[in-house]
Amino acid sequence: MAGELARKGCQVVVIEAGTAGTGEHGRNLDSTPGGTRGFADFLEGALAPLNRAAATPPRLPGLVGIHGVGGMLVGWTHNSPNPDWWELPGWIEHDCWGRLVARASDLLHVGVAISTEDGRYKDFEEIVARRVGALPDGREVQPMPIAAEPLDSGGWRFSAADDLLRGAHENIRLITDHVVRTVVHRRGAATGVLAHPVGGGDPLLINADAVVIAAGTVGSAQLIAASGLEAGPALGAYLTEHTIVASRVLLKANLRRNEESDRFPPSVWIPPSRAHEWSTTINATQWNFNPAIPADAPFDNTIDLLSFCPVEPQESNRLQFDAEREDGFGLPVATGAVELSNSDFDVAGDALRELFLLSSDLGDLVTGWGMRVPARGGSMHLMGSCRMGAVESESSVVSPEGRLWAYENCYVAGNAVLGERNASNPTLTTIAFALHVADAISSPSTSTLVADCKESS
Ligand SMILES: Cc1cc2nc3c(=O)[nH]c(=O)nc-3n(C[C@H](O)[C@H](O)[C@H](O)COP(=O)(O)OP(=O)(O)OC[C@H]3O[C@@H](n4cnc5c(N)ncnc54)[C@H](O)[C@@H]3O)c2cc1C
Repeated sequence: MAGELARKGCQVVVIEAGTAGTGEHGRNLDSTPGGTRGFADFLEGALAPLNRAAATPPRLPGLVGIHGVGGMLVGWTHNSPNPDWWELPGWIEHDCWGRLVARASDLLHVGVAISTEDGRYKDFEEIVARRVGALPDGREVQPMPIAAEPLDSGGWRFSAADDLLRGAHENIRLITDHVVRTVVHRRGAATGVLAHPVGGGDPLLINADAVVIAAGTVGSAQLIAASGLEAGPALGAYLTEHTIVASRVLLKANLRRNEESDRFPPSVWIPPSRAHEWSTTINATQWNFNPAIPADAPFDNTIDLLSFCPVEPQESNRLQFDAEREDGFGLPVATGAVELSNSDFDVAGDALRELFLLSSDLGDLVTGWGMRVPARGGSMHLMGSCRMGAVESESSVVSPEGRLWAYENCYVAGNAVLGERNASNPTLTTIAFALHVADAISSPSTSTLVADCKESS
């Protein structure tokens, strides 16, 4: 949002609760394949319960995040699949989504060259395609699109928030280590925000012609609730995420690397479609989800399999905010739950069966096989809470342009607006939608965004 608005000439103030940084991806500290396993240590240090909480919410024990410039984008794993038509809200036309996704892909340097650079790629793809069988046109087994750009010197640089801010710095003022606790509003319009230093002290009052709330799925709904903004009964509701079923296998002898290589192992994708409702990635990651494989198993001899299964966004799957208790950011404490429906369990069961069969196709299971389903809220893909809808209703919080229904100039961006059932990793869609909101804010029919920053006591 900030990058696109600034590139369009708007003056933008970004307030971030986490610490200063460029938004560059942590993986670029060592962007070689050899750095893959070590990236788990980076994540271990970066991921934590939200808002300095001592523990995660009881019914969302997997819920962690990253506070800092770029949020979780400094630690994401770059899978940027094209969503299928049924995963996208239908009230933005398909052609329009297509153009937005293409713009987001350009900004993030999304491509498949990194997925196919290993000479074994075709062998992997053929094995997977044989197991999965016929799929709809365009949704066949294919290389996973990855957000990374090739370096002139060879190798890769992984994309993150710094790419989204490219060419925008002149018009952006970044204020870090400040938590927005209030969106100031009057008679159906937001007039600015109050940002409190994380370490304590007087708040800053920042006046603005428009306010965009992009504080993650929990933080965005939390700030709306804390500010007393009118958002209707859907605020916090229709949470969704992905049930992940995942494993690692020791590759069959003929699929192992038999010589040293500086190329990334194959990354194969089974796209979600109406015929196969979950998204599966077969690639090399930093995580070992299989207890039967030792932690020090050679990188070149293993491959990981992860399936992302859709979760129905039910009204009862929701966040709650306790106005009587403050969290570490001085905001109402957030709790919540995401319960799976019978059909959610059915799809995850189908995905698990396929995962075992694919494991046996690619791997040697003689020493056993194990898998993991991460704790609820732990997909890092929590969505919903500020659901977008076609028309003003009790089941949506924002308009198709991301605007809070009751306010002329207050918008929401980020995963919070995605309240439809889906299986593709969400970030490409989220960024595509953010571009759409930026277009709406900066269109001639909307007043020019001019944010001016002044201190208040
Ligand atoms: C390990 C990992 C792997 C992932 N892999 C992938 C992947 O391969 N593909 C994919 O599509 N997605 C992936 N994701 C998910 C991806 O990172 C998220 O979809 C994306 O970051 C969501 O963006 P967001 O803006 O909604 O929220 P966030 O990234 O959580 O950003 C929210 C920001 O708001 C700030 N904030 C919150 N409250 C306040 C407040 N009151 N005042 C000021 N600032 C506030 C936070 O500090 C944070 O920086 C992964 C995530 C992780 C952690």
